[in-house]
Amino acid sequence: MRNPPKIVEFEITLACNLRCIHCYCEAGQRSPLELSTSEIKSLMDDLKALGVWAFDIVGGEPLLRSDIYELLEYAKKIDLRVMINTNGTLISEDIVKKLRDIYPDLMIGISLDGPDPETNDFVRGRGSFEKAVRGIELLTKSGFDPVVLNVINKRNWKKFEDMINLARSIGVKKIYVDRFIPVGRGVVNREKLDMSDLDWIKAIRYVREIMKNYENDMTFYVEENITGDPCSAGVTHASVLASGWVVPCGHFRYNREFYMGNVREKPFSEIWNSFDPAEYFPTPGPCKSCEFLKACGGGCKAVAYHRYGSVEKLDIPICYLRKQSNNFHLKNWG
Ligand code: SF4
Ligand code: SF4
Repeated sequence: MRNPPKIVEFEITLACNLRCIHCYCEAGQRSPLELSTSEIKSLMDDLKALGVWAFDIVGGEPLLRSDIYELLEYAKKIDLRVMINTNGTLISEDIVKKLRDIYPDLMIGISLDGPDPETNDFVRGRGSFEKAVRGIELLTKSGFDPVVLNVINKRNWKKFEDMINLARSIGVKKIYVDRFIPVGRGVVNREKLDMSDLDWIKAIRYVREIMKNYENDMTFYVEENITGDPCSAGVTHASVLASGWVVPCGHFRYNREFYMGNVREKPFSEIWNSFDPAEYFPTPGPCKSCEFLKACGGGCKAVAYHRYGSVEKLDIPICYLRKQSNNFHLKNWG
């Protein structure tokens, strides 16, 4: 038996009211293939029994699924720790109240891809910044402790410090930091959001430095594609797509060769326990004799696949930074 995953992400719906240009979701209509309420409850039972640390509900836009409150109620009943990632634009006083009543300690992530309307709305659509900030304010006012979800891209990385200051000014103490990877709509918008390896090195280094400066005031949850720690895909993390297919990381949602199984056919726990990450993600050749292999492992597998064509390639910016300095750590490491 393998150790249980720490986080299982679940794409609860394909429906979304935005069409973010970086997003790899299929945002649009709810699909008839989406798992039903009872199928999701069985999945939650299985994850609880397996011992996952948290079940992370993402979309599309989770608040557009009409059974979301019933599902949260069920998760609370079975004592499953849940996070929900929303674009925040639909949050109202009524919704906040309902969430408080059902799941008072729900972890809520709100996507913001810039500290101002110009930067954020370029990615997420006009008016989304204002609505998301209002949503965050409603959540903090009611006692929730939301996390701002920030995906670093070509246009926003130099504004990362402003992003932190905006978050602080609206009562947010936690930021999740991820890196743009060209998948889904991100492929067609690559020119607008992606960078050269050299610029990614600058951007990642800069973001790390800024996090260091604020490590006493904020908690950062940082993807390994920024920290340079070993990729968690299929090791401590898995994603369940709306249709029930399980992938080691959501960035492989369009790549059948990474599908691990479908929870409609067998329980997640069985799929997880028969999965061998080393088979799907062999160690890249140059890493085999590298002194940093244990601490690094080649970087983000999705970056390697989607930027360089194979999971056996190196994530070049991470490799470069690792060889430059082998000790990036934060005090408040979420
Ligand atoms: S530093 Fe480079 S070569 Fe070494 S393990 Fe990391 S990615 Fe591989
Ligand atoms: S593939 Fe990349 S984004 Fe996915 S878990 Fe690994 S480091 Fe994170």
